[in-house]
Amino acid sequence: MKVTLLGTGTSQGIPVIGCGCQTCKSTNPKDKRLRVSAYIEVSGYGINGNNTLKILIDTSSDFRQQMLANNFDDVDCVLFTHHHIDHIGGMDDLRQINQQKKKKIDIYGNQLTLDEIKITFRYVLDERLQKHNSVPLLNFHYIDSNPFKINNLEIIPIEVFHGNLPMVGFRIQNFAYITDASVLPESEYAKLENLDVLILNALRIRPHPTHFSLEESVQAAKRINAKQTYFTHMTHDLMHDTTNELLPPNIQLGYDGLSFEI
Ligand SMILES: [Zn+2]
Ligand SMILES: [Zn+2]
Ligand SMILES: [Zn+2]
Repeated sequence: MKVTLLGTGTSQGIPVIGCGCQTCKSTNPKDKRLRVSAYIEVSGYGINGNNTLKILIDTSSDFRQQMLANNFDDVDCVLFTHHHIDHIGGMDDLRQINQQKKKKIDIYGNQLTLDEIKITFRYVLDERLQKHNSVPLLNFHYIDSNPFKINNLEIIPIEVFHGNLPMVGFRIQNFAYITDASVLPESEYAKLENLDVLILNALRIRPHPTHFSLEESVQAAKRINAKQTYFTHMTHDLMHDTTNELLPPNIQLGYDGLSFEI
């Protein structure tokens, strides 16, 4: 399995429009953060005669730019964590994959997430537009707390809270991805044992009502104890190099374009 972080920034992206802070002015490419998303290639589980299953987590507002920047041209399925606009905003650009690859795209999310996507992207359901291929062509798959399979690959939903909002992270083999959490219920820790790599959100130093602060993320990461943890969904409060110097080597800030094999 190969994982690429397409974006690691909070909802505004970094640099923030109009901000002159050190991180926003930084020339370090690792301080440039698009909205959060990840691309996962799992060999041996491909569909339509391909070896590799290509999974996208969330269609961020920067989805098009992220696909181009990483030379990706295909998506088999999308796992949605929740319906906030920074996580779904780029969905219209799945059209290009429908057209180039001549297929519909399977999208997975909980009831609230997919219902909200149908409201935000109401035009996608218009059958006249579907016939003209002028909307993303999607198969909606509603998930609950139970593990589900995509072409025999098991995906385990991790149920977390984002303030009061129940939302999901995902475990695939020894990799797990959790973003936008502020609470990891006790029941979910057992689903996160023996991870090689964990992606977890860490917003900023100061506490926030609906996101883990850096300190809270470090505590959760230490308890989960993956071999390696990378943080995502950071604000401009967290400068890449200076923050990483303060963190243990196996718990570090991720960055856009970071990729690794498991
Ligand atoms: Zn978010
Ligand atoms: Zn800034
Ligand atoms: Zn959110």
